[in-house]
Amino acid sequence: MGASDDTLYMIIYHPKYLEHMQDPYHPESPQRLDAILKKLESSELMGGCLVPEAATKEDILSVHTPEYVDYVQNSGEGVIDSDTTLHTETYEIAVLSAGGGLLAARKSVEEKKPYFALIRPPGHHATPGSGGGFCYFNNIAIAAKELLKEMERIAIIDFDGHHGNGSSDIFQNSKEVVYMSTHQWGIYPGTGPANFVGEGDGEGHIINVPFPGGSGDFSFYKAFDELFRPVLNQFKPEMILVSFGGDAHYKDPLTGLALSSFGYMDFMKKIFDAAKELCEGRLAVYLEGGYHLQAQAEVVAGSIAVFQGKELHMQFTDISDQLGRGKDAVEEAKEVHSSYWKL
Ligand SMILES: [Zn+2]
Repeated sequence: MGASDDTLYMIIYHPKYLEHMQDPYHPESPQRLDAILKKLESSELMGGCLVPEAATKEDILSVHTPEYVDYVQNSGEGVIDSDTTLHTETYEIAVLSAGGGLLAARKSVEEKKPYFALIRPPGHHATPGSGGGFCYFNNIAIAAKELLKEMERIAIIDFDGHHGNGSSDIFQNSKEVVYMSTHQWGIYPGTGPANFVGEGDGEGHIINVPFPGGSGDFSFYKAFDELFRPVLNQFKPEMILVSFGGDAHYKDPLTGLALSSFGYMDFMKKIFDAAKELCEGRLAVYLEGGYHLQAQAEVVAGSIAVFQGKELHMQFTDISDQLGRGKDAVEEAKEVHSSYWKL
């Protein structure tokens, strides 16, 4: 196996995640997880995985309204939006996905090491009262709510190619959560401008970097080094949660961002280092989007290799962002946030 005790069980996964299907040609397909598992096996990174239980109704209600939860549970066949359908089994698998997220958070707190929740359906577009964008329940927000029973400061870093409008809505009034997002501007869901900083107690705690298409490795490094990391240093989170989307990759068919597989690894390494330096290693990563099967599998496996201190041979390594196409977006976000943080 080659996995030491230390590297066993960094992965949370339930076989039922493969049974969730929107429709046979939908990009958010079971093949996504299948490709990741195969890549982990062939790269000898699997070690072992923990199988979660379902989140309880109470867990789900910590984030979502009773009306919406009831709608997902009892509508049978239906639709939430044009990209997000309901089936009779959707509720059961969505609560298992949230349960996977909770287990990742709990294990990471207990063991002070990173856990990667390989979950479906994804969650970051789910708001308190509605799903959408392939999401039903907001897995990462449900985990954050659970952690906040014991903790006072949680950081969420969302570098899916799309803005996590659900996570932003849920925490926009909270000073206990800093939500930081890089995303392509102008695509679904259309939210996440730099000048939206949260409201009330949460003012300054929503940090958006809306990138133009073509932004890749150097733009993401700049966002992390000049904005996210200084905010983390000052906020001093007790734990870092990551919404991980493989869809900021240049191979992804749904966005125009340009992260290479090297860029993914470097960005995850920066997050991992921050978790070690600021949170005693407490880090939980949540699979959100990512629709090029091989590229997504490569960057998930690469991230797990980073956590295990291993090297993984990368295939998708074209770097096209030497000039940092997104640098103005980072400068604008820094300007907006200079009233709240020392940048
Ligand atoms: Zn996405």
